[in-house]
Amino acid sequence: MSTDPELFDCIVIGAGVQGSFTAYTLAKRGKRTLLLEQFVLPHTRGSSHGQTRIIRKAYTQDFYTHMMEECYQLWAELEKEAGVKLYRQTGLLVMGPENSESFLQIKGTLQRCKAPTVSLSQEDFSSHIPHMRLAPGDGAIVDVSAGVLYADRALKTAQDLFQEARGVLRDQEKVVDVQPGPIVTVTTSAKSYRAHSLVITAGPWANRVLAPTGLQLPLEVVKINVCYWKEKSPGSYHVKNRFPCFLLTEGEEANEHIYGLPSNEYPGLVKICFHMGSPADPDHRDRQTDRSDVDILSRYVTRCVPGLEPEPAIVESCLYTLTPDHHFVLDSHPQHRNIVIGAGFSGHGFKFGPMIGKLLSELSLGEEPSYDLSPFRIRRFQGLSKSAL
Ligand SMILES: Cc1cc2nc3c(=O)[nH]c(=O)nc-3n(C[C@H](O)[C@H](O)[C@H](O)COP(=O)(O)OP(=O)(O)OC[C@H]3O[C@@H](n4cnc5c(N)ncnc54)[C@H](O)[C@@H]3O)c2cc1C
Repeated sequence: MSTDPELFDCIVIGAGVQGSFTAYTLAKRGKRTLLLEQFVLPHTRGSSHGQTRIIRKAYTQDFYTHMMEECYQLWAELEKEAGVKLYRQTGLLVMGPENSESFLQIKGTLQRCKAPTVSLSQEDFSSHIPHMRLAPGDGAIVDVSAGVLYADRALKTAQDLFQEARGVLRDQEKVVDVQPGPIVTVTTSAKSYRAHSLVITAGPWANRVLAPTGLQLPLEVVKINVCYWKEKSPGSYHVKNRFPCFLLTEGEEANEHIYGLPSNEYPGLVKICFHMGSPADPDHRDRQTDRSDVDILSRYVTRCVPGLEPEPAIVESCLYTLTPDHHFVLDSHPQHRNIVIGAGFSGHGFKFGPMIGKLLSELSLGEEPSYDLSPFRIRRFQGLSKSAL
């Protein structure tokens, strides 16, 4: 191990979407930045792998929708800068019991934020979305600017641009220790590095990386079964046939939070997932074999998406890192202000990648963040926390 650790302006731990965008933003701002990743890149063991994610303004809280307004611009700038296509507009169909709280909240947020929308009556629904059934009593509203992000491509783009901006990316270097101080020392499986500030974006491993700093957050890691369903008639749910992304605020069965994306990455297969999973250890993800969510999805597909085979053709795995209120953690460490934490993205953080990069960079440079970060502060967990909040 080196006795002369290298000194950086900032070290970022974890090259998922949030760490990669944070590192890129810092390097673009002229900061000497090191991005550390435990696995060989690219990998499929965290939360940022896979080809697609939904991007949307449809949220129950205005603060996410407001942030998304700028975030769409950041994605467009990134596409231009890199010369790659990262976003495809498909619209997002939001469905749920017409008078339920969450459906009305999403409708209200979209209206207040003046996001373009189209409301579909029960009668309009079948002519606009012929291969899907709207449950009786459900309302349907389309968030028009929503669509698909090409996730793997976006992640690689951020990492490539980071390196073009003279950022140093070291993969296959697991961080094993963090020593706080005015200069933070980070020790990996290979060597030690020092930096004026540290950003921890370690996804499902956040609490393991935080442990030496005396902080543990109330995070729960769950495994998601990522299911792909075969079209009975090829092309009927394809992105080219204007099949939208969709989201159920709640459904016939308890907690039926389901979302789907048009067929795109695997020809003839539509991605439909349950927005919840079962607790998992990120180092032993595949020991979690619960498939009760797949049964719920099968029943939903049979009932409401009859043009698909009711058994998934492919089931892949991904991890969510949940906070108790499902809002992110974007904050400085309570005891060590030059350590910044981005964690608990609770299964909806990808679309915010460039915005999270901007906000975590601002925090790590000691600047006033561009948005009010009070919903994302660590102190909201006081009383719930595991330790040292
Ligand atoms: C099935 C699924 C569907 C989703 N759909 C959507 C969607 O439609 N829209 C949306 O906006 N979001 C969606 N999300 C959520 C989104 O993908 C996540 O919020 C986001 O990817 C979280 O990124 P992250 O960088 O925090 O974590 P990760 O991607 O897990 O990155 C953390 C990185 O840190 C590394 N690391 C950890 N510990 C160490 C260490 N000790 N040393 C070095 N490196 C370390 C890990 O290896 C990993 O690469 C979905 C997530 C899943 C799983």
